[in-house]
Amino acid sequence: MTQSRPDFSDNMKQPNDKESRYCTRCTRALKACLCDYIRRVPHLAPLHILQHPGEVGHPKGTAALLAASLTDVRIHVGEDFSGDEALNALLADPKVQCYLLWPDEDAMTPAQARSHLARRADGGEARAHFILLDGTWRKAYRMLHSSPALLGLPRITLGELAGQYSIRKKPFPGALSTLEAGYHLLSQWEGEPERFAPLMTLFTHLNRQWHDFAQGRRR
Ligand SMILES: [Zn+2]
Repeated sequence: MTQSRPDFSDNMKQPNDKESRYCTRCTRALKACLCDYIRRVPHLAPLHILQHPGEVGHPKGTAALLAASLTDVRIHVGEDFSGDEALNALLADPKVQCYLLWPDEDAMTPAQARSHLARRADGGEARAHFILLDGTWRKAYRMLHSSPALLGLPRITLGELAGQYSIRKKPFPGALSTLEAGYHLLSQWEGEPERFAPLMTLFTHLNRQWHDFAQGRRR
């Protein structure tokens, strides 16, 4: 690898290392900072990312990029969410309807979730919030099963979208990076994909960086 190429191994460390060489916003190494490509997009439904501790500061994670690209994202770090008071309060809030992004056969599309919300006894007055699990397939499965409240949530699927994310082993066909999942979820929910285009532009820059890095390593 040549010196001019970004050293992604730096991202293995936590962004709050003593002599911080990490961007506090996108959490990437300063020389791989992507903040120039981040545009904050306002959106209707708040997003909650439940992040496995193993994903915090992971060099190939995209949750921090998604959070920096949106106006209403909260990241909750943990493995077992059964005792998470903030999350439990949210799940029990009668004015909120949470949906979990979990593409199984019982999952609804965002369009079906809209009718689901409208069919509620309160006539669709509740505000939709989305919950995303950030971890490997196995870890995400354990996180989901740690909490009966999470397990009982209505689920959302994004359909047969093939992820463009080429840098991580995909847990199952069509699996998306957290950044892509956030893009598809919100653009399908709001029906305005063009408003969320900055997320995919950022994703393209991230993939280009990784591609250049992989090319450099092969030389
Ligand atoms: Zn940055």
